[in-house]
Amino acid sequence: MNRRDFFRNMIRGATVLGLGGVFVDLVRKVKADGTVWQIDPWKCIQCGRCATECVLEQSAVKCVHSFNMCGYCRLCTGYFEPQPNKLNTAAENQLCPTGAIFRTFVEDPYYEYTINESLCVGCAKCVKGCTMFGNGSLHLQIRHDRCLNCNECSIARACPSDAIHRVPVAQPYKFKSRESTS
Ligand code: SF4
Ligand code: SF4
Ligand code: SF4
Repeated sequence: MNRRDFFRNMIRGATVLGLGGVFVDLVRKVKADGTVWQIDPWKCIQCGRCATECVLEQSAVKCVHSFNMCGYCRLCTGYFEPQPNKLNTAAENQLCPTGAIFRTFVEDPYYEYTINESLCVGCAKCVKGCTMFGNGSLHLQIRHDRCLNCNECSIARACPSDAIHRVPVAQPYKFKSRESTS
C-alpha cells in the first residue's frame, strides 16, 4: 500500500464517521508494527462489554450506521423498545439508554436513523436489536480519535467472541456494508 492509498483509506474512514483531526490522532498512536485495534462487526455478538471494559472512562467504542444496509424501517428494532406504546420518538419507546439515536421522517413509510456519537456509550443494545430482527446495519467500531491503542486492549481480553484484533493502520475501520461479508 503506497502513501496515496493510505491517506485515501484514512479519508474514507474519517468521512464515514465525520471525524475531525483523525489523521493526527491516529498517526501519533500507531504502534511500531503499524497496527491498531478494531472490532470485526461480523463476529461481535453484542455482549455489552465494549461499554464497560475499556480503560477510558467513556469507552472508545461507538455505534456506527451503514446507511447502504439499512431498510429505513418505520418499525426499527434498533431504535424502538420491543413493545413500544407508539412508533414515535417519545423517550419511553426508545431502546437506546442515552437517547443517542435520532429518527427523522424521509417519506412514507421510510425513516432515517442517525447516531449522536457524543451520547453513544457503545452499549450495543441497538446493535443487538438491529442484528436480530433488522438488516444489521448498526454496528460497533473502536474510534481512533478516542482509543489509546493500548498494548493490550482490555475489551479484546474480555470479548467472548474474539471479535477484536489488530488491523493495519492503513485500514483502521471495518465498516459493515452490503458488499462486505467478513
Ligand atoms: S466485547 Fe466483543 S462481543 Fe461484546 S460488544 Fe464488544 S466486540 Fe461485541
Ligand atoms: S443503544 Fe448503546 S450503542 Fe446504540 S446508540 Fe445507544 S448508547 Fe450507542
Ligand atoms: S485499546 Fe485501550 S482505549 Fe482502545 S478500546 Fe481498547 S481498552 Fe479502550
